[in-house]
Amino acid sequence: LGSSEGRKERAWSEELFDRAVEFHGHRGPYLALGLRMGLLALNALGARGWFDLRCRVSLPLKPPQSCILDGIQFSTGCTLGKRNIEVEEGAVIRAEFRGSGKALRVAVKTEALRRIEASISAGSGDEILSWLAEAADPELFSSEILGGG
Ligand SMILES: [Zn+2]
Repeated sequence: LGSSEGRKERAWSEELFDRAVEFHGHRGPYLALGLRMGLLALNALGARGWFDLRCRVSLPLKPPQSCILDGIQFSTGCTLGKRNIEVEEGAVIRAEFRGSGKALRVAVKTEALRRIEASISAGSGDEILSWLAEAADPELFSSEILGGG
């Protein structure tokens, strides 16, 4: 298990998603999107997770968009209890992760959000979840790494 090695899992798996769903309560696309965002941050910063990174997330503070927060917490181990996740209201979904003297800025692409919103309207949940599991990071996010933490 990733946790017994003191390192968060870096890659999407159905098992990771199922455990996140157990935590969050339903198979929501924004939960999946938050998981993907957290996995991107772990990989980009070379972080182990839980204690060696922190994040600040800006997004609309109501479901379903706010479900992304549970995905980020679950995948990165940045949690409300440890105070290494900060949240603020914003019209656009974006986050800044810091760790190992680096920072990663991530924003969800408008096209990805349109696709998620269209699938929610159409009630095609499984299809969008497959896409969120398989899409390459640049299909979902724009991101940049900044030196200096
Ligand atoms: Zn949700």
